[in-house]
Amino acid sequence: MAREPDRSPEGEPPRLLILGGTTEAAALARAVTGTRGAEAGTWDVTTSLAGRTRAPAALPGAVRIGGFGGVDGLAAYLRVGRIDRVIDATHPFAAAISANAADACAELGVPLLRIERPAWAPVPGDRWIDVADAGEAADWLAEAVPSGATVLLTLGRQDVAPFQRCPALRFVLRSIEAPAPEDLPPDCLLLTERGPFTLDGERALIARHGIRAIVAKNAGGEATAAKLAAARELAIPVVMIRRPALPATPAVADVAGALDWLSRPR
Ligand code: NAP
Repeated sequence: MAREPDRSPEGEPPRLLILGGTTEAAALARAVTGTRGAEAGTWDVTTSLAGRTRAPAALPGAVRIGGFGGVDGLAAYLRVGRIDRVIDATHPFAAAISANAADACAELGVPLLRIERPAWAPVPGDRWIDVADAGEAADWLAEAVPSGATVLLTLGRQDVAPFQRCPALRFVLRSIEAPAPEDLPPDCLLLTERGPFTLDGERALIARHGIRAIVAKNAGGEATAAKLAAARELAIPVVMIRRPALPATPAVADVAGALDWLSRPR
């Protein structure tokens, strides 16, 4: 493997910072630290987590938790830690950290790659309503869904407060972690669950609660795509929150692409 000496001290392995919080980031940390994929096992890996999840899964390599303090804080971390490369493997909706990574890496000349899971695209039979954010989704529901109907929210705990403006609707919220109680809409059943979800399971969930519409973020990936197939089958509208704009960072679609990038000279 062609590997650059990069910026780490002579004789020490090059240092990789993974901006994490996703399954891809965890898979990359495992692959790069050598438990999978021996070629990349020479990197000294640190994964950075925002600290939103109370009990994050164990990761190989070093883990640091908490914000850096904006672009300047991240640039200082890269400089002091003599980081050679950064892989932004954050969620496609984590726009602030991706922008900060682009700015800090550009300032210091540190190579940056993003793992960008391909977005979902509608196929024939889908009834998608394209919206910019949770607020627009709530506005659409308030207009279009009959009073008393039940809507499935498949969102993060930070995204639910706007649905308080739909007091005539009933909600089932499926989220990895529970939101603050004051953010919940008045009539809301909370399901704290983590994917992957199966098509049979999604059909059963829709039938059990009489779901009339689904709100989702266009996260992409297989683990949570079954709800889209179930909605298509049952002709249920999906209010799809589109991805935020991200900086024009070089990107690959998956962990294999990131490993390939790491195997190339900078
Ligand atoms: P965000 O809006 O882009 O970031 C807000 C701030 O949180 C950033 O400015 C940064 O603080 C800090 N931060 C975010 N990710 C970080 C990381 N990996 N390491 C250290 N600091 C980080 O992010 P978000 O949407 O709140 O997402 C937070 C984390 O949850 C990310 O790691 C993301 O991958 C994960 N996640 C997000 C979603 C989602 O739907 N947004 C879904 C699943 C997982 P400073 O400016 O102080 O550095």
